[in-house]
Amino acid sequence: MNHLLTDNFGRNHNYLRISLTDNCNLRCFYCMPNEDYDFTPASKLMQVDEIEAIAKLFVSFGVNKIRLTGGEPLVRKDAHKIIEKLSNLPVNLTITTNATRIDTHLDTLLASSIRSINVSLDTLQRDKFFFITKRDQFDKVLENINLLLNHNFHVKINMVVMKGINDQEINDFIEWTRDFPIHVRFIEFMPFSGNNWKSDKVLTMNEILNIIQSKYNYNKIQDAKNDTAKNFEIQGHQGTFAMISTMSEAFCGTCNRIRLTADGKLKNCLFSKNETDILTPFRMGEDVVPLIKSCIISKEKALGGQFDNILEKVDSQLIENRSMITIGG
Ligand code: SAM
Ligand code: SF4
Repeated sequence: MNHLLTDNFGRNHNYLRISLTDNCNLRCFYCMPNEDYDFTPASKLMQVDEIEAIAKLFVSFGVNKIRLTGGEPLVRKDAHKIIEKLSNLPVNLTITTNATRIDTHLDTLLASSIRSINVSLDTLQRDKFFFITKRDQFDKVLENINLLLNHNFHVKINMVVMKGINDQEINDFIEWTRDFPIHVRFIEFMPFSGNNWKSDKVLTMNEILNIIQSKYNYNKIQDAKNDTAKNFEIQGHQGTFAMISTMSEAFCGTCNRIRLTADGKLKNCLFSKNETDILTPFRMGEDVVPLIKSCIISKEKALGGQFDNILEKVDSQLIENRSMITIGG
């Protein structure tokens, strides 16, 4: 095993998440807090060749899974070129998207090595979709999810559960799995810079499971190695569901993820205070390998060293981080 991507706790990082842009065509209030946010100018973003070269470097150190994210990765004008280039690498390539641009990118996706796509959708109600995202794209998103299913992509739906916002819809999402082979992932609401997070807005994994149990009998199914989700099935349902319990039961012990922001900063944790600029030295022709190594070695044991899983004690004001849209979820 190559040890360059192994941290002080023995965790090997073979999963790289690359943010293509901090730009987005939706305005989810829990992710992009400021409507007037200035997106990073294109020249400051990693360019196609830079993304390819940096990704190849990580692959040479053992990365075997790459997820493209953002912001909204498919609003980037050259997203198709990036997908084409990374499809040639020996990795499991995936993407997380809000699905508004799936139709315009369908040919690229079909020609790529991507087979599984994560789609964010927090509500099955048109009005609420507008309330959460401030954009009228609900029908388009549903159409595009169906398009993906019709083309046999494996579709995972990410639903961020927020008390008083969409927690009444948990079982509507479960009902959706009855006749469709979708995998719904319920995500505990997480604190990021400016998103007005409060512990009492979080619905924990156990609370979500209790709601599901009131209507359905579910069984636990085997989780994949390093899976952040706890997976479940319901007999007779084509789809499955999962919990991502970052806030109530973090899964840092088996974390294998590192993140590259759209402006070329390496983050060793979603909640890391620090980040390592590798794009600037890379552009100057310098060796970035020692920087990558020190970034990995400095990874904290859990949750960026910024809080722990006692929800009521988490003070979001004390967490130093970027907003989610600038990290790349
Ligand atoms: N635009 C794409 C999308 O929405 O799928 C990719 C980027 S988005 C930042 C990635 C994921 O992060 C989405 O599933 C989104 O719901 C999730 N996310 C954003 N802010 C979050 C928060 N505060 N807590 C939990 N999940 C969050
Ligand atoms: Fe955009 Fe995705 Fe953030 Fe929503 S969650 S604002 S779609 S980046």
